[in-house]
Amino acid sequence: MALEIIDSCVNCWACVPVCPNDAIYQAQPHFLIDADKCTECVGDHDEAQCASICPIEGAILDELGDALNPPGSLTGILLSAGELPSSIPQDIR
Ligand code: SF4
Ligand code: SF4
Repeated sequence: MALEIIDSCVNCWACVPVCPNDAIYQAQPHFLIDADKCTECVGDHDEAQCASICPIEGAILDELGDALNPPGSLTGILLSAGELPSSIPQDIR
C-alpha cells in the first residue's frame, strides 16, 4: 500500500514536510516515495497529504496507477471540448 511519484513531478519539495512517515525523498530526476514507509496516510490523515499539497496534476499515483489529482482537478481546465472535470460543481457549470 503505497503511492508513487512519477515523471511529471517538478521537484518543488512541497510534499516532503507534510508526509507523516518521512516517506518522500529527493532523487533524480524527481522525488520518490519509499514504498516501505508510505501508509497512504491511513491512521494519520483523511487524505494523502502529499497529493493534497502537490500542485501538479497526475504527479502522484495510487497503487492501481490512477492519478490522485487527475487532469482538470486542480486547474479546472477543460479536458476536451464540452467536457468538464468532475470536481467542478454542477451548479456553476
Ligand atoms: S500518502 Fe502519506 S505516507 Fe504516503 S508518501 Fe504521501 S504523505 Fe507520505
Ligand atoms: S509536491 Fe508534487 S511536484 Fe512537488 S515534489 Fe512532491 S510530487 Fe513533486
